[in-house]
Amino acid sequence: MATATHTNSTERLQSYNPATGESIGSVPIMSAAEVDAAVARARVAAETWSTRSCRAREEELTAFRKAIAASVDEIADVLHRENGKPLLEAYVEVMMALGHIQHATARAEKAMEPRRVSAGMLANFRATISYHPLGVIGVIGPWNYPLFTPMGSIAYALAAGNAVVWKPSELTPLLALEIEKIAKRTFALPDLLQVVTGAGATGAALAKSAVDKIAFTGSAATGKRVMMAAAERLTPVLLELGGKDPMIVDSDADLDKAAEAAVYGGLTNAGQACISVERVYVAEAVHDRFVDEVVKHVRELKIGGDDAHLGAMTSPAQVAIVKDHLDDAIAKGAKVLTGGPDAISGSYIQPTVLTNVDHRMKVMSDETFGPVIPIQRVASLDEAVKLANDSKYGLGSSVFAGKAARAIADKLRAGMTSINSVMAFAGIPTLPFGGIGESGFGRIHGDEGIREFTRVKSTAEQMMSIPLNMMSFRQPKEMHKRIRGMIKQLYGDGVVAKAGDFFRKLK
Ligand code: NAD
Repeated sequence: MATATHTNSTERLQSYNPATGESIGSVPIMSAAEVDAAVARARVAAETWSTRSCRAREEELTAFRKAIAASVDEIADVLHRENGKPLLEAYVEVMMALGHIQHATARAEKAMEPRRVSAGMLANFRATISYHPLGVIGVIGPWNYPLFTPMGSIAYALAAGNAVVWKPSELTPLLALEIEKIAKRTFALPDLLQVVTGAGATGAALAKSAVDKIAFTGSAATGKRVMMAAAERLTPVLLELGGKDPMIVDSDADLDKAAEAAVYGGLTNAGQACISVERVYVAEAVHDRFVDEVVKHVRELKIGGDDAHLGAMTSPAQVAIVKDHLDDAIAKGAKVLTGGPDAISGSYIQPTVLTNVDHRMKVMSDETFGPVIPIQRVASLDEAVKLANDSKYGLGSSVFAGKAARAIADKLRAGMTSINSVMAFAGIPTLPFGGIGESGFGRIHGDEGIREFTRVKSTAEQMMSIPLNMMSFRQPKEMHKRIRGMIKQLYGDGVVAKAGDFFRKLK
């Protein structure tokens, strides 16, 4: 069992096993002063870490990754007990997090390599873009994927040469302390990755602290509060927020595969995934067959127990949201094919398939974050795309179709789309991950995810002098006439092929 390593706090937070309701440990509720102290320690670590070569950082990050892999049983056990997810899903989460650590480690040097770019009109200059660590990154994480999600920021921030202070969700702090223990063991700088525990107030303190960037993953409502708090110091923010991911199933889709994917995408982690399939639009011609397939797959699932497909919901608050969405949908005419509000028992929700749904219902417009698959019949692909885009969110999406698949995908207003699959973009570490609209902004994963934790530096180096030096007050008489001529030639009708040619002509 993980124990807290910080001793100043007197107040403590209990962590519960949602499957049994039992307390499985407690952690300190850290004050703003303690958060500030952690950030100050991280700043010292960052100064050393940022000056290490990419190779040296790679070595330590590899040791960190290997140590997590060596402790996979303990980590998966804490994930299973603290979050409620089945053991299999806990192991998958650890594996996906490790994939990102490995990718960020191996890729950082290339992604941060300085790039020479065209100097345009100033052809006697060498223009370079370079990337440098920001310093200290504050990472605030959610409870649904308490390892995988924050690691999408932590690994990339560390690989880019930053130190990290991580505020895990109050529902899953023990998992974070396990990782912090490993970090302290494997990194030469013990303050390189620190965990500050507590609830919203501790997160708010981190958002207000002297970090160089906040990477927040959680709900849109909290994301807005984080952004407001960070605005005090103009601290930049990366926001990975909620979603209402649509799936479109066309009439020429492989229905069995589409149904299997809808069931997995809608129900994995008991539907508590930001990129869950939250609503499905199915072409009229195949709607009924698709629904039958989905129901068939759902009936094969086991709910509860260590070998379950679906575990306990992580919090009673989330159970209440799901029940509210189901009650609302039924009151407005939805048909329940499996599960339903009456089948909710404690922290377990039976997977629920709904038809006859429409956008007046919360289950089609708000984030449900539970094991619910609402299926709407559509008359055309245009209608499917229109409904899919009719959302304040824009995180993930998926399309099951034949020849029209790519064209449909291109029309979806979302940060990410899987074609003939679900959620695949999250497991491909080269692909940037993030959303638009109320799903947030900024990107984790991929080269963008590494550069997200860097400051971009532009350098203009004069390589030789030319007669026309625009960065000087010492200009010949009537210079404005020459400039006037240049404007006409460079940007008007008498366009010169390249600005460099123009200067060569002037010499
Ligand atoms: P949440 O917004 O309730 O909490 C997230 C974190 O913010 C927690 O650590 C919490 O303690 C902290 N917090 C609360 N109030 C704060 C404040 N005022 N200032 C700073 N921090 C504060 O979200 P949650 O319920 O833990 O997570 C579920 C949400 O996260 C869902 O909406 C889900 O879609 C989203 N999510 C998004 C992604 C993504 O990558 N886009 C991934 C996972 C989860």
